[in-house]
Amino acid sequence: MAVHKLEEKKIEGANFTCFHAGKFADLFQYEFKHPKVEKAAPGKLLVKDQLGLTGMQVSLNRFPAGRSMPFLHSHKQNEELYIFVGGEGQMLIDGEIIDVTEGTCVRVNTKGARAWRNNSKEDLYFICIQAKENSLSQDTLDDGVPAGTPHWVQQ
Ligand code: ZN
Repeated sequence: MAVHKLEEKKIEGANFTCFHAGKFADLFQYEFKHPKVEKAAPGKLLVKDQLGLTGMQVSLNRFPAGRSMPFLHSHKQNEELYIFVGGEGQMLIDGEIIDVTEGTCVRVNTKGARAWRNNSKEDLYFICIQAKENSLSQDTLDDGVPAGTPHWVQQ
């Protein structure tokens, strides 16, 4: 049985992939360049390719204090779930403003025209998960099946 320490940044098993992205406070080491947007977004890491995700895209985000998204966007097929994990800010969806902070979860369906801003003095942290709208046809309680007893080796 292998024991993987944190120093191993990426671990691939037969049935899993693990990627240590680093601390959320260090997310500025990453930036995301959307092909249709002129400037790269600092502090945004998409993990689909890192992890080989097949049913969702997930981004880890550190959004700088005082910054606003300069455009609204909607989606063709994917709903989005924004999970705020630190800081304070606001989302703007179809003209409605929602205050957000750690623990706020916001689902936006495909048609929602959305943007967000950080109108605070601290950076805003969130995770965004997108998946195909109405694709969750299986009941998740039925989907889990027992797979034995965990055996932890002593370290
Ligand atoms: Zn989006």
